Amino acid sequence: MKTYDVAVIGGSVAGLQAALTLGRARRRVLLFDDGDPRNRTADHVHNYLGAENPSPTDLLATGHHQLEQYDVEVRDTRVDEVAVDGDGFAVGSDRVRAVVLATGLRDELPDVPGVAKSWGRLVVACPHCHGWEVRDQPLVQLGMRGLPDRSVARALLLSRWSSDVILCTDGDELTDEQLTKLGKAGVQVRTERVEAVHPGDDQVRVLLTTGEALLPRALFVVVRQHQQSDLAERLGCEIVDGAVSVDGGGRTTVPGVYAVGTTAVPALFAIGAAGHASTTAVALHADLLEQEL
Ligand SMILES: Cc1cc2nc3c(=O)[nH]c(=O)nc-3n(C[C@H](O)[C@H](O)[C@H](O)COP(=O)(O)OP(=O)(O)OC[C@H]3O[C@@H](n4cnc5c(N)ncnc54)[C@H](O)[C@@H]3O)c2cc1C
Repeated sequence: MKTYDVAVIGGSVAGLQAALTLGRARRRVLLFDDGDPRNRTADHVHNYLGAENPSPTDLLATGHHQLEQYDVEVRDTRVDEVAVDGDGFAVGSDRVRAVVLATGLRDELPDVPGVAKSWGRLVVACPHCHGWEVRDQPLVQLGMRGLPDRSVARALLLSRWSSDVILCTDGDELTDEQLTKLGKAGVQVRTERVEAVHPGDDQVRVLLTTGEALLPRALFVVVRQHQQSDLAERLGCEIVDGAVSVDGGGRTTVPGVYAVGTTAVPALFAIGAAGHASTTAVALHADLLEQEL
């Protein structure tokens, strides 16, 4: 059984950044990743200082290259079990002193045919990530049936990127107060059910059950998010509203287990996930040092 200081589980932006900060602190790190980052279907990562809209694959490849000079061993494999082992953990046949969970989230998309097909390209969720590229063009915000408050909030947000925004509630009725707010922001509202979405080359066809079609340049959707891995739950970490609870140093409620990036803070963009991971790695290094002394 080989011994490492830390196992980082999940090797997208947060996991790679945690490994980088720990590697540079001369920690012996084992990094596991099964190659399924949340933004895998997107053409570009936007809004990431220092990297001009790289593809997700290129951004992660740069991260892997940066790790090569440190004591970080990378394994392209999924971790299905982490067992408490004395004052550390067993991950497969290896022993580690601490575990960093960087396993990320899975998005549940609105249940409308065609949405999943173009997810990440013409169908996206976040205006801060994708709004600039389609600014001042016709846009549709598709709500998540049963979550009208979130659907309205997203449409109001999107109205800052274009004056031509239609909110499709997919069957949800809105209150007078919501309609007034949307009217003030210049957002049109359609409450019919959406039958299907047909992505084209540079626009989306949104087909309503009335037979009418809307033709936005991009379709923004509301999503529900879930943990991509059940490792945190199985280790006994507290999970609140789908996020692994952590303190300011990324420590979960289980000693020796840390959580970084969207695993702990679902709303983080890529650069925020990396920043959170770096801060957590610094705290983890200090905790290990404390044990050593
Ligand atoms: C379509 C789309 C487009 C986006 N565009 C942008 C954008 O332009 N700009 C931006 O800032 N943000 C964007 N985001 C958000 C961005 O993707 C996230 O902020 C970022 O990916 C979070 O990184 P993370 O490391 O926390 O998690 P993730 O990227 O989800 O990575 C988790 C990693 O853990 C691995 N993993 C999970 N479980 C296991 C396991 N048991 N064993 C081994 N490995 C495991 C997965 O394979 C994955 O590689 C977008 C999101 C989506 C869905």
